[in-house]
Amino acid sequence: MLKQKVRCMNKGWNTTLLGLELHELTRLVEESEEPGYRARQLFQAVYADRAADTEDVSTLPKEFRSKLKSKGIVVGLPEVTNKFVAGDGTVRYLMRLADGETVETVWMPEGDDGESGDGSEAGSESNGRAWSRATICISSQAGCAVNCQFCLTALLGIKRNLTAGEIVGQVIAVLRDRQVSPPEERVNLVFMGMGEPFLNFENFIKAVRLLAQGVGVPESRMTVSTAGIVPRIYDLGSETVRPKLAISLNAPNDQIRTEIMPINKKWNLQQLLTAAREFPLRNREKLTFEYVLLKSVNDSVQHARELAELIRGIKAKVNLIALNPGPGVEFKTPDEAAVLRFQKILIDSGVPTFIRRPRGRDIYAACGQLKRTLELAS
Ligand code: SAH
Repeated sequence: MLKQKVRCMNKGWNTTLLGLELHELTRLVEESEEPGYRARQLFQAVYADRAADTEDVSTLPKEFRSKLKSKGIVVGLPEVTNKFVAGDGTVRYLMRLADGETVETVWMPEGDDGESGDGSEAGSESNGRAWSRATICISSQAGCAVNCQFCLTALLGIKRNLTAGEIVGQVIAVLRDRQVSPPEERVNLVFMGMGEPFLNFENFIKAVRLLAQGVGVPESRMTVSTAGIVPRIYDLGSETVRPKLAISLNAPNDQIRTEIMPINKKWNLQQLLTAAREFPLRNREKLTFEYVLLKSVNDSVQHARELAELIRGIKAKVNLIALNPGPGVEFKTPDEAAVLRFQKILIDSGVPTFIRRPRGRDIYAACGQLKRTLELAS
């Protein structure tokens, strides 16, 4: 039944403006026997001006708006059904998509120190607003197929891929709610919400283009994180418009990695690190390795040394995340001292290493906690 609906939706791509690139809007406009420049007006209206309804787009003649309506052509923003606000200002949005599926998107007014590509930018720029490092964490799939043992999203299993319009729509819905307007107002985007972006590569990369060219977030302020889908790392490297790359490493050797991330059986550390070494970095760009610290599993002095050795020579920084706990996850969070000790060993080995601050843990908005928590609360 769900499959059927999804197929319907995918087939009906031309009824949702969000997700369409300029050349696709041009075709849509021509099919409606309207002048070509209307495509640019639509592009501006849905991505830059963030219209929720074509009825509200005053740059378009009334007749054209009626024509769109009668053809069932809508903007297609996801509906925000719930909003949870954490003590630290983080907001977790539960969004409902056209077929009733739900995903989560997180607004972090001050980021979590994971958004900046080289660790140097964070907080260095101020536009007079408290959230000058604001970061939106976007989902790329409903659920996830990767099955990392410490992640709550994994417990959902995979529901389905999101369309490009649904990915962009999350950002626009949050910007509307926060009344924030890039590019004048600075916003970072991280593809670190629910799902594995590289298992939905085409829609993800199309969303990136629309976010850069339409919504106005520079690609240099976007970061995509992968659990290690190696062939897609090479694909990302050959894209002209692309975010920075983060790799969820999480272990210093194959034995531990396979235990906590079964995907390691498909692409092991040697394959993953070869792809990382060959990734074509731009000027001043660095890779990010994310490393979730699990008490007594991957957080020892020896593990830190092994990790430093493993990534030696790669132009990269490491982001450490102490496990965010959750029901159904058996691992423990290491204490502060163990996290600091791990960081110090890496730094002493010459690896820039940052500790990601847990954001919105109290509302289940932190890394690895996105599980549509209406279910958890009940
Ligand atoms: N699937 C992609 C995108 C999700 S990013 C990926 O795995 O990279 C989510 C990040 O949060 C990953 O770096 C992951 O390792 C981390 N993470 C997952 N569960 C976590 C948890 N319980 N506590 C802390 N970090 C977690």
